[in-house]
This record gives sequence, C-alpha cells and structure tokens, in this order.
Amino acid sequence: MPPVPRPPGLSELEPLSEHCSIGTGGPARWFCEVTTRDQLNQCLDWARERGLAVFLLGGGSNLVCADSGFDGLIIKVRITGLRFEALADRMLVHAGAGETWDALVLECCQRGLVGVECLSGIPGTVGATPLQNVGAYGQEVSQTLVSVTCLELESHEVLSFSAEQCEFGYRTSRFKERDRGRYAILEVCFALRHGLPDAPSYPELLRALAARALAQPTAEQLRACVLELRKSKSMLLDAADPNGQSCGSFFTNPILEASEFQALLTRALPARPPAFSETDGRFKVPAAWLIEQAGFAKGARSGNVGLSTKHTLCVVAHSGATSAEVVAWARHVRDTVFDRFGVELEPEPQLLGLSFGTRAAR
Ligand code: NAP
Repeated sequence: MPPVPRPPGLSELEPLSEHCSIGTGGPARWFCEVTTRDQLNQCLDWARERGLAVFLLGGGSNLVCADSGFDGLIIKVRITGLRFEALADRMLVHAGAGETWDALVLECCQRGLVGVECLSGIPGTVGATPLQNVGAYGQEVSQTLVSVTCLELESHEVLSFSAEQCEFGYRTSRFKERDRGRYAILEVCFALRHGLPDAPSYPELLRALAARALAQPTAEQLRACVLELRKSKSMLLDAADPNGQSCGSFFTNPILEASEFQALLTRALPARPPAFSETDGRFKVPAAWLIEQAGFAKGARSGNVGLSTKHTLCVVAHSGATSAEVVAWARHVRDTVFDRFGVELEPEPQLLGLSFGTRAAR
C-alpha cells in the first residue's frame, strides 16, 4: 500500500486555546480542518498509519484541553451543507455536522419553522448537539431530531441512527456514553413544523414574553426573547464580555432519586431547593442553586479562575488562566457542594487529557 499523502491543511503545534471558548489549553501536535468526508477519511488513514490518537473537534464551546496539549491529531469537522425537504406537514432539515448551530436556528426561525427556537444562542456546531442532547427552556434536540448520520472511525462505514437508536437522555446520548469516540457525526436531520411555537413553561421565559406583551409569539419572537435572556446571563459567545471565556454551564443539573431528594430537603433546611419533577418520579434540582447555597456568590474568584458574575453555573477563565486551574476550581466547587448537600455535581464539558477525578475525601 502506498503511504497515505499528508492531508491538505495539516498544521503542527496548533494552540488549542484558540479553538476552545474557555481560551485555555496547550498545542495539538497535529491539527487539520476537514470540510468533506473524503478529507476526514484521509486524516483518519494518515493518523492510523502513524499510530496517532485522534480527537474530533466541533465548535470547541464545551471542551477543556490539557495545558500539555494533545499528542495526536485533532480533526476539526467543518462539513457543511443545509437542505430543506418538505414532507407531508413537516419540513425535514438536513444539516452538515460543521454548520454553526445558531445559524441553523436563525434560518429555521426566519422560515417560520418551529421546534428549535428555544435553542437559540447555544454555541457550537450542529454535529455536537446530539452528543449531549442539547436543550434549553424545555426544548431538546431529541424532540425534533429524526436521524444522525455517522462515520465509524475504525471501519469508515457510514451508518444512520434514528432518534430512538441515539439513546437520548437528559444532556446525554449513546455518543456521549457507550459509543464515546467511536463515530464522527457527519449530518443531522430534524423534522420541524410550520406555525406558532408551543407555549413555553419556563417562568423566566414567560416573564420575558410578558414584558414584550407577546401572548402568542412566533418562532422569531421567541428566539429574540431567548437571546436576550442568554445575553443577560453572559450565555452568548461574545469576546468583549468579561465573563466570555467559559464553556457555558460547567455542571449539569442533578436529577435525584426520590430518596436522595428527601435527604437533600432535610440537609437544606431551613432553605427549600427549587425542584422539578421528572416523569419517572425523580427530581431535577438546579445546580446553580446548590452552588450558591454552598457559599459561592456570582463572581466568586480564586486567582485567574472563578464563577461568572452573571451566572453561578459558568466557570470563567480570566486572563492568564490555565486548564489545570479551571479544573481545580471546578473540583473545589463540586466538593464544597457535596460536603454541604451530599449531591455530586457532574461536569458538562468534555475534558481532553484532564481528569475531573473522584471527590476529595474531606
Ligand atoms: P434556568 O433557566 O435558571 O433553570 C435552572 C434549572 O431549572 C434547570 O435545571 C432547568 O431545567 C430548571 N427549570 C426551570 N424552569 C423549569 C420548568 N418550568 N420545568 C422544568 N425545569 C425547569 O437555567 P439556565 O442555566 O439559565 O439555562 C437556561 C436554559 O438553557 C436551561 O434550560 C438550561 O438547561 C439550558 N442550557 C443548556 C445547555 C446545554 O444543553 N448544553 C447549556 C446551558 C444552558 P433544564 O436544565 O431541564 O432546562
């Protein structure tokens, strides 16, 4: 077999800090951006020939990379393409994995399509959304997703998974769990409908709609409200925002068994945590409430890292911060919350070459 040619656009020692919204992380030994499936296959073959580890990067908005970097090949998937296909009373939206998620949401809202408007302003690429079943304000991609087309990295086989086969859960899927690192997502298909969005149930969003006197908002109007809310919490990508260098929410909201929730109610007294009942009898508790009640105010800081001044759930890397500091601070938050409430927070971002470790025995 002739050697695999060097992939076009391959670079060396690429600073990962420039590809991650948190702005930390060392260099990738090798780095390549691919816009087609053929380029992706070539990169995979080239890496295999050299025995290199491979990591697939989307928008970098939910990722913390080690300060020592990555001693392998980072492939940034920018496979684009957007196609709308009318089917009965639905519009199928076929989107390349490298499309920017929020640009897709904007286009759908402008076309009067309903089903993803509450997911406005979420950073990252389309291909990253199925991984953690991205959701906000009561909407999740799993509700409108029809299928995910993937390339199996080992065999180069292209497969399609239905929504059911994706094994979606709260901020999770098979791609994040049992098949982590096995597939490259190439394309995602959604089925959206025309008309007005369902009435939202989130109090914060309802208040924002009421302030605009919008009783029956269109998808575009709901999008505008969501963007305003996210901006007020520094949850929009904005280089000028002092809270901007973050991964968005650093912790997922814990979902507790009924017995665990009862224990929390006792430990939290005299305060009463806000909670939302799940259909299976469990209770979802806002991580932000637990963090604040454990003693961390918005803007709490240690050296170059801290919490956002607008949202307790965001860990911010200020100028000069390292990934090690980010992770150490997040561990400190997790351990303090556990000591106070007996609830263990799980990190939402992917860690590359870093470990969140087990809770420190205290
Ligand atoms: P928030 O609106 O302050 O809500 C905090 C918590 O309350 C979340 O656990 C949220 O559940 C829950 N909640 C509020 N109203 C609810 C209702 N009517 N029914 C059920 N649960 C309710 O949260 P935030 O941090 O500012 O974020 C706003 C939205 O963006 C949230 O929905 C959040 O999940 C979402 N978000 C998603 C991602 C992601 O997918 N990667 C990242 C950041 C934020 P839910 O979490 O189930 O909504």
